[in-house]
Amino acid sequence: MLSTLLSPPDVGDLEQRAVMQAMQSGWVAPAGPDLLAFESEVAGRVGAKHAVALSSGTAALHLALVSWGVGPGDIVPVSTLTFAATANAIRYVGAEPCFIDCRDDDGNMDVGILARTVRRLISEGRRVPAIVPVDLLGRCAALDAVAEIAKDAGARLLCDSAESFGATYRGRAAGSWGDASVLSFNGNKIMTTSGGGMLLTDDGVLAAHVRKLSTQAREPVPHYEHVEIGFNYRLSNILAALGRAQLSRLDEMIARRREWRSRYRELVRGVHGVRVLGSSDVSDDYRDNCWLTALIIEPGEAGTTAERVARALFSEGIESRPLWKPMHLQPVFASSPAALNGNAERLFRRGLSLPSGSGMTEPQFDQVIAVLGKALKA
Ligand SMILES: *Cc1c(COP(=O)(O)O)cnc(C)c1O
Repeated sequence: MLSTLLSPPDVGDLEQRAVMQAMQSGWVAPAGPDLLAFESEVAGRVGAKHAVALSSGTAALHLALVSWGVGPGDIVPVSTLTFAATANAIRYVGAEPCFIDCRDDDGNMDVGILARTVRRLISEGRRVPAIVPVDLLGRCAALDAVAEIAKDAGARLLCDSAESFGATYRGRAAGSWGDASVLSFNGNKIMTTSGGGMLLTDDGVLAAHVRKLSTQAREPVPHYEHVEIGFNYRLSNILAALGRAQLSRLDEMIARRREWRSRYRELVRGVHGVRVLGSSDVSDDYRDNCWLTALIIEPGEAGTTAERVARALFSEGIESRPLWKPMHLQPVFASSPAALNGNAERLFRRGLSLPSGSGMTEPQFDQVIAVLGKALKA
């Protein structure tokens, strides 16, 4: 039985009251005032002009690609070290992902490899209509450099910031980068609507089109008229009410996760062959949201392995997880091209994500530190 989970939802009285109020207000049918308020609050927070609340982050990725007309014959460079949802969305529209390997320090897209790959694809006559970098575990990718490459290639930039809401890079918030950005409010993310996501953009035409596509692509006439294929991807008003309550606590929840991160750092400081993925959490360039803390454990140097540490934690009821298994190693994407340097695979084999939830109690965390310290001989 697991007693301490990796990143469970952190919800309480405030969220319960918000959901009850939304129901009592009568706005149970999907649309409603909380939905619109949630969109404008998130847009305001990240500094984007438009926001469209959707049923998941995956839906937001999908609809951005649909709206841009990405489809069969197109190739879309995307981080290989990510959750399958990022690459799945590319396949939903019939395009081909091209998996880009990562930096060793934080697991985010290697922009040197990206630049070379995009140049090569274009010189081979391939169409590269979009590039999809991922902000891994709440730390932004080098999005200014990626934006530059996208601009040179005439490709749109779709930032998968599903994990990084609340983070900034070079002073600019995750969710405000690129031609569009995607957030996720799934139950395990930094804040939740139980399930949900959002598309953020400064492009009013894109936002309006995604909003229309998400509600079955109805034309603005009294009868049901359709000139394109629509989806049922809109977030409901009740879940948006939950999201607004969570948003009011976002900074507090980030602070909590940052506290855990700094104590994990403290524990492994000086432990040979063990480091926290991603260098300092707050620097001139980066402000992580510290969504998940992951250790990188070098088997030869640490005298143990990520797998053995995971077993030690599990035997005390503590959940941990390997990092995302890179997409180029997934059977379902075996036929897709990839540009590799070995980092993603190495991080996957050495990485371990640790309990990081903002609802974790001090005694729970003390136990995690005690068990982890023993397993690492820290
Ligand atoms: C969670 C996640 C998604 C998908 O978000 P959902 O809301 O669960 O659909 C996409 N990309 C990344 C990197 C994620 O971590």
